[in-house]
Amino acid sequence: MDTRINKHADVIIVGTGPGGATLARELTNHGKEVLLLERGIDQRPKSYYGTYLGALIYSDRRSLLFTEEGLNIIRPLMLGGATSMYCGCAAPPPEWLKTKYQVNIDNEVAETMTELEIAPLPDDLRGKASTRIAEAGRSLGYDWTPQLKFMRPSRSKQFACGAKCMLGCRCGAKWNAAEYVDEAVEAGVKLIINARVDQVIIEGEHAIGVRGVLKGKPFQAYADKVILAAGGIGTPRILQASGLKQAGVGMTMDVTVMVYGFIKEKGIGNEPPMTWSWENPETGYMLSTLIDPWLLYPIINSLKGLRYPLYWPKWNNILGVMIKLKDEVSGGVFPNGKISKPLTNGDQVRLKQAEDVCRKILIEAGAKPDTIFMTPLRGTHPSGTVRIGTMLDSNLKTEIEHLYVCDASTFPEALDRPTVLTIIGMAKRLASQLAQ
Ligand SMILES: Cc1cc2nc3c(=O)[nH]c(=O)nc-3n(C[C@H](O)[C@H](O)[C@H](O)COP(=O)(O)OP(=O)(O)OC[C@H]3O[C@@H](n4cnc5c(N)ncnc54)[C@H](O)[C@@H]3O)c2cc1C
Repeated sequence: MDTRINKHADVIIVGTGPGGATLARELTNHGKEVLLLERGIDQRPKSYYGTYLGALIYSDRRSLLFTEEGLNIIRPLMLGGATSMYCGCAAPPPEWLKTKYQVNIDNEVAETMTELEIAPLPDDLRGKASTRIAEAGRSLGYDWTPQLKFMRPSRSKQFACGAKCMLGCRCGAKWNAAEYVDEAVEAGVKLIINARVDQVIIEGEHAIGVRGVLKGKPFQAYADKVILAAGGIGTPRILQASGLKQAGVGMTMDVTVMVYGFIKEKGIGNEPPMTWSWENPETGYMLSTLIDPWLLYPIINSLKGLRYPLYWPKWNNILGVMIKLKDEVSGGVFPNGKISKPLTNGDQVRLKQAEDVCRKILIEAGAKPDTIFMTPLRGTHPSGTVRIGTMLDSNLKTEIEHLYVCDASTFPEALDRPTVLTIIGMAKRLASQLAQ
C-alpha cells in the first residue's frame, strides 16, 4: 500500500534544477501551496562537496553514464540539479525561441540578470592563458567576448575558481539553483528529498498527482497541477511510464568536445572555466575556454586512445578550446533505460569545421601543432526530449490537463549555448501564468 505524503497541494513540482527551483520560489511567492520532490539530497554541507569524490557520489552512474554510441553524459542528481556542477555561464535565449516558437521570456530573463547580477568576471579574473586564447581568436577575425557568468567573486571569502569548479563550487562565488530552493523553503514550500517520482497519476484526461519511491517505500502525492522539471533525461522517463509514448523520442545535447594544445607556459587549468567565448550562429557552434579538471583528464582521454593520458603530467600547460555544437534532434531516451545520441552527417561536418577553427586559434596562441588533439565527445546538456511544438504547446502544457513540463527537455532545438538562464526565464513565465 502506497503512503500518501501530503494532504493536497496546489502544485507538485518534480526536480530542483533551475526549472524546478525557480518555479518553487516563484509560485510560493505568489501564495501557492507547493510540494517540491527531489530524488537526490542536499550535498552542499558535505565535506566531499566540490571534490572528485563528490562528483562520483552525486553524478548518475558515478559519472560513467554513456549513450549507446559512447558519448559520456554528466548528470548530477542532487538538490540544485546540474547547476551544482555547471560552469556558471549565462546566455540570453536565442532569438528563434521567440520568433519561431512564440516563447517570449525577454522580461523574465532581464529580471533574472539584474537579480543575480549576471556579468562577465572582471578583467583580472578572466585568466591570463584564457585571455591569450581569446586574443589569438580575435587576431584571426573571430570576435571573442567575455562570457556572462552566474559568478560573483564578492560572494566568496577567497575567489578560488579553476577547472575543478565543475565538481561543485567550494568558494561560494557561483550561484546554484539550490539557493532558490532555500528561499522557497523559507517562504513555505514543502521540500521532500530522496523522493524519486516514477509516474504521473492521470485520471481521465487530467493529471491529479504523482507516485514514486521515498526512501525505498512507495508513495503517492496529490495536487491541482503537476509540473515535471526532472531534466532532459528524468522528465521523459516519467512521462513514458505515465503512458505518453512520444516522450524521449529524439534528443538534443549541445554535443561538447575540447580541443587541446600544449604550451611551455602555464595553461588554463587553474583559471576560472569559460571566461571568454565566441559564437558562430551561422554554422551552429559556440567556442569557449575550458579544459577537464586534473583527475578527470586521464580518465576521459583514455577513451580516445592509450597515448593521450600520457600527456597528463603536462596538464598545467594545456590551452583548451571547448566546442559546443548545435546538434540536430536524433536518438532519444528509451523506456528500456538506454540513451542514444548519434551525430548526423550534418553534425559531423560542422564539428570538423569547428575543430579546424580551434586548431588555428590554438596555433596562433602558441600551441605546437603536433600536440593538438580533440577529446572524446560528451554531453552536459541532455535536452529536447519533450519538445515545445511536438509534445508541448508554447506555454509548456502537455496534452494532459494540468500537466506541465519546465526544464531542458522542453527545448525545441539544441540551444547551442548555456541553458540555465533560458530555463529560469521559462520557469518565471510559467509561474506567472499559473498564478493568474
Ligand atoms: C559539467 C556541466 C557544466 C555545465 N555548464 C553550464 C553552464 O556553464 N551554463 C549553463 O547554463 N548550463 C550549464 N550546464 C547545463 C545546465 O546545468 C543544465 O542544462 C541545467 O541545469 C538543466 O536544468 P533542468 O532544470 O532541466 O534539470 P537539472 O538541472 O538536471 O535538474 C533536474 C533535477 O531533477 C531531479 N530528478 C531527476 N529525476 C527525478 C525523479 N524521477 N524524481 C525526482 N527528482 C528527479 C535531479 O536530481 C535534479 O535535481 C552544465 C552542465 C554540466 C553537467
